[in-house]
Amino acid sequence: MNAAAQVADALGTRRHVLLLNHVSPDGDCLGSTLALARALWARGQQATVGSADGVPGMYRFLPGAERVQRDIPEGIGVDAVVFMECSTPERAGALAARAAGVPLWINIDHHLSNAGFGDVIYYDASAAAVGELVYPIVRTLTPAIDAGTATCLLCALLTDTGSFRFTSVTPRTLTVAADLVAAGASPSEVYAQVYESRPATALRVMGMALSRLAVSPDGRVAWTVVTQAMLRESGATMEDSEGIVGELRALAGVDVALLFKEEPDGIHVSLRARGGVRAHAIAEAFGGGGHAAAAGFTGHGPLDEVIRQTLEVVRRELGVAAAT
Ligand code: 5GP
Ligand code: MN
Repeated sequence: MNAAAQVADALGTRRHVLLLNHVSPDGDCLGSTLALARALWARGQQATVGSADGVPGMYRFLPGAERVQRDIPEGIGVDAVVFMECSTPERAGALAARAAGVPLWINIDHHLSNAGFGDVIYYDASAAAVGELVYPIVRTLTPAIDAGTATCLLCALLTDTGSFRFTSVTPRTLTVAADLVAAGASPSEVYAQVYESRPATALRVMGMALSRLAVSPDGRVAWTVVTQAMLRESGATMEDSEGIVGELRALAGVDVALLFKEEPDGIHVSLRARGGVRAHAIAEAFGGGGHAAAAGFTGHGPLDEVIRQTLEVVRRELGVAAAT
């Protein structure tokens, strides 16, 4: 039995499944947990979706998003837990504690930095989105996928592939997307909901960040910051800074783009890379993780110091990439 069938088999016989997102959840993670939950709900099974950081505004259109819980009481009696895109259980944030004592842990991921924990591991780093891995599970649990579930999974694929532009896109990605569109999901609607429904504050904070753009002398590294002061001035939330790092990556000649976000618990660093540079290797040096093209970590200390230390590791990685 392949891993997708194994997960479907394990979930299909459970009474109540807890599905956990990682902190700062993205469209892939939320779309995938919701799609799995919807499949279980359609079968009459209980499923609870947890997200320690809630649901960012751009993903609230996902059918079922209103049922995602930020807090989950202890002792709700789940008999399986799914960690979605969590390299370690701790990536689920405060809700990781709800997995304690649950008899079956399922780990579904496509990130390079997954630690390989859990009773059932469904891991495939060749998937462009974890939604690509979740699709066959959903298909097995509910052979007729409804339009709402198809929308959740299409959002997963579309957001993790830069709207099907990244090098990670394969024939399988597009075949799954085609099935989802046939099941009633609309690429133009998902795109409009996620990327064309932004508040003015998001553009204002992007403007501020872009005006503080720094580029290394050789042009290969670009970075900028979003500080709490910039949020106050623009009226934006940190969630509105989504998309800034992608703009930096679009600069000609840039191999590594970084966004340093000043958050209450530290400096969240978003990394994007191309040209054989391994973003995850840079992030792992600071206890984070991710993919070769997109990764992140949380740094500690003053902003300038985190920037300095990160750029040092970036330099080292650029040297490694050049030598291989
Ligand atoms: P983003 O920059 O969009 O927040 O994250 C880029 C990628 O890196 C995502 O796939 C995200 O899950 C991963 N990532 C971001 N921060 C961390 C972190 O602190 N730890 C790990 N393991 N992955 C992270
Ligand atoms: Mn993903």
